[in-house]
Amino acid sequence: MISPMTCPVCSKPIHDSEEQAAAPFCSERCKKVDFFRWWDGQYAIVENIPADLTDQLQAELGEPDQSVSEDPHDFPPQ
Ligand SMILES: [Zn+2]
Repeated sequence: MISPMTCPVCSKPIHDSEEQAAAPFCSERCKKVDFFRWWDGQYAIVENIPADLTDQLQAELGEPDQSVSEDPHDFPPQ
């Protein structure tokens, strides 16, 4: 007996020949769900960011850093 192919997203068996257009997913919807999951994962494991880019990102995010010349803590609280 051949085990039916199941959707990796919702585990629904894929049997309809028309739905196999979205294989290995049961539907276009699940295909997209998996794609976005995969995309999210790519974001999570980004490692090889060039130093130039991390510097730029830190500047844009305003991350507290020693390299910041104008320290807001220099201003005494009123
Ligand atoms: Zn599915």
